Amino acid sequence: MCFQDQFVNKIMTKRISDRLNNVVMEQFNDTLSVVICGAGSPLPDPQRSGSCALVIAGDQVMMIDAGSGVSQISAMGIPLGLVDHVFLTHFHSDHINSMGELMTQRWANSGKGFPIAIHGPVGTEDIVTGFNMAYGPDRSYREAHHTATVMPPSGGLAKAYPFTLPSTEGLVVLEKDGLKVTVFPVDHSPVDPAVGYKFEYQGRSLVFSGDTAKSPVVQKFAKGSDVLIHEALSRPIVELITSVATGLNRVRVTKITEDILDYHTSPVEAAEVAQAAKVPFLLFSHIVPQLPIDNLQRRFVEGVEEVYSGEFSIAQDGSFVSIGLDNGRIHQGELLN
Ligand SMILES: [Zn+2]
Ligand SMILES: [Zn+2]
Repeated sequence: MCFQDQFVNKIMTKRISDRLNNVVMEQFNDTLSVVICGAGSPLPDPQRSGSCALVIAGDQVMMIDAGSGVSQISAMGIPLGLVDHVFLTHFHSDHINSMGELMTQRWANSGKGFPIAIHGPVGTEDIVTGFNMAYGPDRSYREAHHTATVMPPSGGLAKAYPFTLPSTEGLVVLEKDGLKVTVFPVDHSPVDPAVGYKFEYQGRSLVFSGDTAKSPVVQKFAKGSDVLIHEALSRPIVELITSVATGLNRVRVTKITEDILDYHTSPVEAAEVAQAAKVPFLLFSHIVPQLPIDNLQRRFVEGVEEVYSGEFSIAQDGSFVSIGLDNGRIHQGELLN
């Protein structure tokens, strides 16, 4: 073996061993953290997969939505086997379309013998039944190949925990080992139900807006939180797509890009919510549309500093924000570059 190959093997051995020892998780000790696995929307975007995020609190790892960003979690070195609870915000395809892969990869990664819990509004049970059915043949192949000892049969399944849509007072959907998860309704009309979530742990908290137009309910739940993760759509950039499509007589694209304007929040509106709720850090996620040129990042947040005095950033796949449990200090970073 040449010197170069030996060198690469050494690097790979370290990398594989770090991954098997979950070294990436050490940086989240003593924090309440959010890791964005999918920062995008249904629009294909190399920097931003479909909606998915992880909340890390102590040794608990919770997931919000199971869009195509699920496939970025292993790429970040985070073991999918740590996830036992998923919270769905609504049933748009970009929020659920990787549930089958999540179920399979969690099972293979952990060998756990119990289903992953899928919490969501009423209707979640039908989606879970569908994914369990669709992945039935795959489960049988893997059990036959690796044995039921390595792949315990029920570990490959999902189990639904549906809740009725709460009032604007919210509803606690899980309390476990000091972590409290509260759900609240948002406005993604005509999509109904649609919800957001608040995660509270050891006096710190994170709020997810879910997909919504500017909402006083998000503002109410975000009040006093440390971090708000808010969806955002840039109207001027979407309108640029509409105007190009109109010029090319692409009637369907024109109609769809006009339709999406009314059930999302602009970055400035999200910043107004964060300011009113006195949240010190605002993370924009579920970014619409794609921002393939650096200059567009600046334009995406144009006007935000005029209405918001806190810190903010635009998420991409791998972005994380941690809140120190002892001092409340907020730290942000990237796990994919
Ligand atoms: Zn969405
Ligand atoms: Zn949606």
